Amino acid sequence: MSLSQVIANVEIARKNVNAHHIVKIVAVSKYVDSHDIEDIYHQGQRAFGENKVQDLKNKSEILNNYPLEWHHIGRIQRNKINELIRLRPFLVHGLDSYDTAHEYHKRLEREGETQAVLLQINSANEETKAGIEIHNALNLYEKLLQECPRLKLQGIMTIGAHTNDEYLVKKSFEESAKIFSQLQPMGAKILSMGMSHDYELAISFGANLIRVGSAIFHSH
Ligand SMILES: *Cc1c(COP(=O)(O)O)cnc(C)c1O
Repeated sequence: MSLSQVIANVEIARKNVNAHHIVKIVAVSKYVDSHDIEDIYHQGQRAFGENKVQDLKNKSEILNNYPLEWHHIGRIQRNKINELIRLRPFLVHGLDSYDTAHEYHKRLEREGETQAVLLQINSANEETKAGIEIHNALNLYEKLLQECPRLKLQGIMTIGAHTNDEYLVKKSFEESAKIFSQLQPMGAKILSMGMSHDYELAISFGANLIRVGSAIFHSH
């Protein structure tokens, strides 16, 4: 696998949805160092994702001469929020609770900043997974839109069911797509779902942002 192979696969998958369905690829660079990121950058990739604030900081500082777009895709730890605010990532994907949202918002207010975020949905309903339960998602999203104006909610993020049972994976994508369509009238634009092993399936359910790591980086 490689970036060009992933792009080719995405091109087929997105056209199967329709000609106007555009999918952004976020290259998840958590497994690699800045040299590998540079390499992929020179192949045309601009959006990169990290799941640890410290890695995001290190790599974005080393690469700050490049016009990169950084995504924070991991769990938001309270003691890392201030650092995250300083780093001003393009998008924070893992807003996964009401309390974290309020904490984040409070600190943004203090700094006079805003942050584009996605609400993470636990669409597979797995206890080990972070995120808002499906039946709470709509309510909470609406509530946060009103209560936390400095969090610029852009949509939702989810991780598909962790199983080989394709039925369950499809079900989790389908649930997320349903929530997303209900949130679109409230301004939701991004449905972040799909990783190396399931991004084509995720696109078929309407994902317009995929987070792909190993399929891009473990090829050399
Ligand atoms: C690591 C990670 C990915 C990418 O996973 P791959 O299977 O390597 O593509 C995507 N999303 C999140 C939240 C991750 O932590």
